[in-house]
Amino acid sequence: MPNHLFFDLDHTLWDFEANAEETLKELYELYQVQFLAPVCSLEFIRIYSKINHDLWKLYRNHQITKAKLRVKRFEDTFKTMGVESKYIPKDIGEKYVEICPTKTKLISGAREVLEYLQEDYQLHIITNGFEESQNKKLKHADLGRYFKTVTISEHVGKQKPHPLVFETALKNAQSNLNHGTYIGDNLDADIKGAINAGWKAFWLTKDINGYTNPDCEVIKDLRDLKKFF
Ligand SMILES: [Mg+2]
Repeated sequence: MPNHLFFDLDHTLWDFEANAEETLKELYELYQVQFLAPVCSLEFIRIYSKINHDLWKLYRNHQITKAKLRVKRFEDTFKTMGVESKYIPKDIGEKYVEICPTKTKLISGAREVLEYLQEDYQLHIITNGFEESQNKKLKHADLGRYFKTVTISEHVGKQKPHPLVFETALKNAQSNLNHGTYIGDNLDADIKGAINAGWKAFWLTKDINGYTNPDCEVIKDLRDLKKFF
């Protein structure tokens, strides 16, 4: 039995979708976006989310830098909405990065399951996010106290699914096991990444027919982990 459990942060514990949406709604108001383009806040969020999602893929493949990603996702959003370059708010990307990690919404069952697991296991985080954002999220959402170590891909120099990220996490945890157990939401980065590194994986997903592997358990709700540990 493992005595260490490793968690992904975004979309697995910290409700990225809800927190990003709350932040983007605030930015829409703050920058009076309705006067720049005839677009409602929901449409603004939809356009941004698609662009951000695509740019993150490039970032994972080292095709774009972090600094570029943070500026470009808003530039492209405004361009898509038909806003001329000179009217695009220059500091909106920085503002997003400042506000979003202070949001505190969690995935359903997150705190309950962490409280339960910390009784018998040492808990750890492995995340592809950026150091200052991820540490801010852990602090503001009061999650930091559950975790012994936090392995951030930015430090490792590789992103999940690269096996080095998982190996580094195991070293950081000072686990005597060769393989860990990982709980995450992203099939490629988390689940296939963990399995490829020789780990066991728990895939938090509603997509129960998408992927099967003997080293992967599918869970629909974080609280399902209580049945296994
Ligand atoms: Mg995730």
